Amino acid sequence: MNHQELLDSLYQKIKNKPDKGKVAKYIPELKKINPDKFGVNLFTTTCKSYGAGDYQERFSIQSIAKVLSLTLAINLVGKKIWNRVGVEPSGDPFNSLVQLEFEKGIPRNPMINSGALVVCDILISKLKEPKKEFLAFVRKLANNNTIAYNKKIVASEKAFGFKNTAHVNLMKSFKNIKNEIDEVLDLYYHICSIEMSCEELSKTFLLYANGGVLTHNNERILTVSRTKRINAIMQLCGLYDEAGEFSFKVGLPGKSGVGGGIVAVHPGKYCISVWSPKLNKKGNSYKGFQILEQFTTETESSIF
Ligand code: GLU
Repeated sequence: MNHQELLDSLYQKIKNKPDKGKVAKYIPELKKINPDKFGVNLFTTTCKSYGAGDYQERFSIQSIAKVLSLTLAINLVGKKIWNRVGVEPSGDPFNSLVQLEFEKGIPRNPMINSGALVVCDILISKLKEPKKEFLAFVRKLANNNTIAYNKKIVASEKAFGFKNTAHVNLMKSFKNIKNEIDEVLDLYYHICSIEMSCEELSKTFLLYANGGVLTHNNERILTVSRTKRINAIMQLCGLYDEAGEFSFKVGLPGKSGVGGGIVAVHPGKYCISVWSPKLNKKGNSYKGFQILEQFTTETESSIF
């Protein structure tokens, strides 16, 4: 079966199944989305794109953007980043504070909120205009100058971001945040508010499938070694406390967000992105997870 036929048939099959998930409500602006949106896109390293459903409609990529901010920070400070954030799965929800106190303000990994907040702190220390420069970086990876922050999402997160504020304060007390707390939160919320469609997301993440090189102009963004490390972090930490289950069932490095998106990377072959806003109990897209599982099973194309 060819890729387009496979995506069409998986899309139809899963679209008509009951959805046991729930849209994230703790960010009020996210509640406004039509919960039945559903899209999937496959982008190969040979630049062929296949899609089904709402794969060209933009949504809030939320935590998926943490991979992009990590990429920029690694390129700015190199391995020194690992003195301030770890690379182990947390086994706890993405916004858990418990481990952070035991581990003296050093977050387990850059994919959980505390880790991404430290990454933002690093970007602020290194960049003159962090919000502008981060967006320019994402636009370059996406080869698309229309990618933008959603200011309504930023405001909505700020108004209800009590837990993220607690994370930054706790880490500041352990001296793992160097800049002003409000500045760190402001950059973090902007990064989470980026919107992309499944197709734009797959295309942006192609560099991780392509050894660190952009497919549209052959520019090297990451060394092979750093690409390996980022894929490894996605594999172990990219799906909240369901990364084990995702490795077990899908078998690819991936990253999810509370907007209902998941992107998965097959090094050397493709990126696949899905969007369906209803989330399972662990915070991952319920239907998104299912379609990815069935795709890698049908194509026998996991990394294992
Ligand atoms: N902006 C969200 C938060 O800070 C990101 C959560 C996510 O997508 O995992 O809670």
